[in-house]
Amino acid sequence: MPDTFTDEQRQFLQLLRLPVPGEPPPEMAPVKPAVKAVSAAPNRSESAQTTPVSASMRPAETPVMQPESLPSPVEEGVSVLRNAVPATATLSTAVAPTPVRSTSLLSKAETLQAPALATQASTSSADPQRVTRIATLDWRDLNNMVSTCQACPLGETRKHAVFGAGNPRGSWLFVGEAPGAEEDRRGEAFVGRAGQLLDNMLRAMGLSREKDVYIANILKCRPPNNRDPLGPEVQACTPYLQRQIALLQPRVIVALGRFAAQGLLQVDTPLSQLRGTTQHYQGIPLIVTYHPAYLLRNPIDKRKVWEDLKRALGVFAELQK
Ligand code: URA
Repeated sequence: MPDTFTDEQRQFLQLLRLPVPGEPPPEMAPVKPAVKAVSAAPNRSESAQTTPVSASMRPAETPVMQPESLPSPVEEGVSVLRNAVPATATLSTAVAPTPVRSTSLLSKAETLQAPALATQASTSSADPQRVTRIATLDWRDLNNMVSTCQACPLGETRKHAVFGAGNPRGSWLFVGEAPGAEEDRRGEAFVGRAGQLLDNMLRAMGLSREKDVYIANILKCRPPNNRDPLGPEVQACTPYLQRQIALLQPRVIVALGRFAAQGLLQVDTPLSQLRGTTQHYQGIPLIVTYHPAYLLRNPIDKRKVWEDLKRALGVFAELQK
């Protein structure tokens, strides 16, 4: 420990509630947000998702519904949910200490450790050593590896690899297909129109990506022209998602769309048959629903999505008992 401290070091110690020598103990010292520490984020996607500490420390808030942005079946579902799901469903996640910063900026996530996940044979890439190595990485190293990945040709065409978004401490994991144009440009998951709809879906569930949810994709890089992911791309990228899940240990997974569902479950069962059931990924309940981008094109199916999300909330509520 140095004898003298810069303002930035002092603020950082205060933020961590550690004593600053020669100053009042943390309980008495006012904690100022470490603005400089946050703005020194190593990459754009991380800093873009940074939420002021004061907001992240807020207790559970009743989600504010915005009728104009929330289609009717979902709106209708909110009242159903409030009656059907015990308060614990949202409270339990909200009281957790949740510094709302994404990916490698998160202090817990930086040190997240999990037993190496046994990679399913059918998803192992051509290089078993690479798969084994990925299965031992911590969150920060995994993020770094993804950001420079060249394991498939998408590494050539992407602008940014998209590791994920949201709160790695959250109990929920939503898995999409692949970054779109906006995500590729910003390096952040679900920030385009589909992302806005996903946020509305989360709000309707009483959840938010800042507090409760981490969002990841099957592919970390955008396929050109938003074409469907190819088999070898999925194969190369799957170990990353598997490791993310092993580190995150979500309580419930929601698979958004066919590619997410089939990729996670390692099946080729049609989405229509997977919906309406509770599947499992490595013992974690997994609910399948339509992808928000599909919903933008087929708003009529929002009611079905709401049924799926209610199922997910019911499963989560059961786990809280
Ligand atoms: N669609 C996805 O599946 N993922 C994203 O991140 C954005 C759009």
